[in-house]
Amino acid sequence: MATDLSVVNAARVSFARRKEELDDADAGLIRFLMREEHMTPFEHNAFRFHIRCPIFVAREWFRHRIGSFNEFSMRYARATDDFYVPEPEDVRSQVGKPGSYSFEPVDPELAETTREELRRVYEDAYATYERLVEQGVARELARSVLPVGAYTEFYWTVNARSLMNFLRLRNAETAQREIRRYADACERFLEELMPITYAAFAEYGRSG
Ligand SMILES: Cc1cc2nc3c(=O)[nH]c(=O)nc-3n(C[C@H](O)[C@H](O)[C@H](O)COP(=O)(O)OP(=O)(O)OC[C@H]3O[C@@H](n4cnc5c(N)ncnc54)[C@H](O)[C@@H]3O)c2cc1C
Repeated sequence: MATDLSVVNAARVSFARRKEELDDADAGLIRFLMREEHMTPFEHNAFRFHIRCPIFVAREWFRHRIGSFNEFSMRYARATDDFYVPEPEDVRSQVGKPGSYSFEPVDPELAETTREELRRVYEDAYATYERLVEQGVARELARSVLPVGAYTEFYWTVNARSLMNFLRLRNAETAQREIRRYADACERFLEELMPITYAAFAEYGRSG
């Protein structure tokens, strides 16, 4: 359902017109809509993503209210022992003030220590989780010991307008690196499936 044609037909229904194929005038129309922020024609389409990410990334993601989510449940299913360990080059320091932080690489020794500390906590947390579940504690309660680096998975269905809002905010310098990588992957789907919309977004929509 994610096509540039859906944008054009949503806009042209005002004049009771419908196209089967895009032409240059339609590309101009999409650019016009984006430039003038007539955004509702970008809502008549849908992308469905199946995401697997750490819980701390999902928490940021779920703040995007315009869209639909269904997530893996640690009440109904046993938690997995999958946890996020950053690559050494992604272990970073945080310098500056909120809103204008810069993130600098740390020395290789600290990067490795951080990864080891994370692994140690994850292993300990997961062993505690398993022990509690084995002893009969409900999964919905035992999960309290699991850190936000644990992986979760969910479906996210979203229209192009809301997706572009997500990309503007989350595939940006100011976004956390981990969610930014996911946003960048989502952006490739918009580019592939709605290339004219994507070009207009890059030109006019990204700055918001
Ligand atoms: C870099 C960064 C830092 C952040 N830091 C924090 C933080 O410290 N604390 C925190 O709580 N959040 C934080 N957020 C989350 C942020 O406040 C938003 O909740 C999140 O980015 C979702 O954006 P959104 O509301 O535009 O998206 P959506 O919820 O998808 O909404 C899309 C658009 O719909 C409209 N809309 C949706 N709901 C309403 C409504 N109730 N009333 C009016 N209009 C509505 C708005 O135009 C909105 O832009 C941060 C986000 C970013 C990108």
